Amino acid sequence: MSPKHYNIPIFIPEAACPHRCIFCNQYLITEKAKQPSIAEVVTIVETYLSTIPDAVNQAKNIEIAFFGGSFTGLPLPLMESYLQAVQPFINEHRVQSIRCSTRPDYINEKICDLLQHYHVEMVELGAQSFDDEVLKQSGRGHTSDNTKNAVQLLQAKNIPFGLQMMTGLPADSPEKSLATAMEIIRLGASNTRIYPCLVIKNTALEQLFVNGKFRTQTLEEAVALCAELVVLFEKSSVTVLRVGLHRSEGFDDGTTLISGPYHPQFKELVETKIWRNLLEKAVIHLPKNELTIAVPFGKAVSAIGFQKENRLWLEKMFPIVHFIEDNQLKDRMFKVNIV
Ligand code: SF4
Repeated sequence: MSPKHYNIPIFIPEAACPHRCIFCNQYLITEKAKQPSIAEVVTIVETYLSTIPDAVNQAKNIEIAFFGGSFTGLPLPLMESYLQAVQPFINEHRVQSIRCSTRPDYINEKICDLLQHYHVEMVELGAQSFDDEVLKQSGRGHTSDNTKNAVQLLQAKNIPFGLQMMTGLPADSPEKSLATAMEIIRLGASNTRIYPCLVIKNTALEQLFVNGKFRTQTLEEAVALCAELVVLFEKSSVTVLRVGLHRSEGFDDGTTLISGPYHPQFKELVETKIWRNLLEKAVIHLPKNELTIAVPFGKAVSAIGFQKENRLWLEKMFPIVHFIEDNQLKDRMFKVNIV
């Protein structure tokens, strides 16, 4: 079993994001959000470290993550102060490295030098799409070339990077999302996050949606597309760190989320769909007798599916269905046996 990885998240909102991505209301929120002081950053790390069992021996699995707004969009002296503040944790081998997330157009040579100097070993870029019309209609304020340039600059400094993407944006299509995924793979990203576009209250997208000029993906469409994307990334060894947005305040009572393919167990739905696609091809032509499906250890829950969806579907065709786990199998390998 691979060792547990610890991420110490430090949320640094931008004082006021100058951009107006059509789907985002963060600039409204972050205008009011307070950036942590240097002392607070140190306290956050110390507090988190105190909760990690055997933290001294776990150091190589511990990472400090500057998330929130676009970290490299902060005024450089402030960004440098944050990075300086956490260097003692690196120098004393209490933490392995640092990661941050940012916009592609907030990467330049000077920033890369600073990131490299301060042991930032993972930069996640919000690429969102490699289709310029999608980026334009989404109000991203950067182009696909900006993302490619950022990647080149990071690669020149040997700084590993991830590329986040969104699906279902204005002017988007499943084909464009698959092309974006292929580009993420081609560019050599280590990891990705996939976020289906949601319509959030107080955004420009809400206006388009209300005026009938934007349609969100259905949950079914988003799950089916994400299932394809995840498999594509897995085949190319790009780690999918996340699929679907975190539950946010107001999502469940409908005060924040206006429309879109949100589900609190979105990842489980995607896993269910991936297994459904695999099993469908394997069992559809089998004689309808007692069926046993062997899957890798720890994968039975995913294969059976969210709310046992895949099992129930199989049970409509086969009189008896067993799922067993087999240590010899790994990843998405499986065996079917019919008696
Ligand atoms: S998504 Fe766009 S508007 Fe929102 S915080 Fe990020 S850059 Fe700013």
